[in-house]
Amino acid sequence: MEHLQHVTGGTVSHSTRRAGSAHQVAGYDEVGRLGEEAPCGHSRTEGLRPTASWLHTAFIGLGSNLADPVAQVSRALDALDHLAQSRVARRSSLYRSAPVGYLAQPDFINAVAQLETGLSPRALLDALLALELEQGRTREFCNAPRTLDLDILLYDDLIHHEHGLTIPHPQMHLRAFVLQPLLEIAPESDIPGVGTAAAAARQCKDQQLERLV
Ligand code: AMP
Repeated sequence: MEHLQHVTGGTVSHSTRRAGSAHQVAGYDEVGRLGEEAPCGHSRTEGLRPTASWLHTAFIGLGSNLADPVAQVSRALDALDHLAQSRVARRSSLYRSAPVGYLAQPDFINAVAQLETGLSPRALLDALLALELEQGRTREFCNAPRTLDLDILLYDDLIHHEHGLTIPHPQMHLRAFVLQPLLEIAPESDIPGVGTAAAAARQCKDQQLERLV
């Protein structure tokens, strides 16, 4: 089976072509949702298979520095595992990092999860924003303290720009608190358009980061 991915002029489409036919089983409509999300009637309760052809691999960055951040990140990791058409395949350790930008706030707890998902990038972002709200996220100002921050870091090898959604995440290659947990669970990661995550991490080695046991 051959997987095709097209990225043109701010739009994206994926398709899967079976050998010997041009049968398209999954494609995005104009609002970025999969046209046919789970072929053969798969659903979470019937059991997701990570190798199923309609699943994508996304890496999600998690961060919190309010209201018991360790519990917030742990709860969010569990919630990711219960997202529709999704399961967490790998989760990093928790890390403690110093705040960036606005410095007069508590340290952050960070982690990265590898998600196998049938959701499109836009549907995944909507689901992450809903999880943030469920865990009391408010947006008072840029870089403000937060109960939960969820970012799509990578989605397959996609390079994608649309209003409110950029993949790879535009700051991920500059942040040790993203790169170190990512490398812990996926040491060979590439950041499309940038280079290897390992090379990016070497550029961030002066940023303070503590891995929690
Ligand atoms: P923040 O929570 O402050 O990191 O910003 C969240 C906003 O960034 C969301 O409302 C998204 O519209 C936008 N955004 C753009 N690209 C991404 C991405 N790759 N992952 C998460 N949010 C993104």
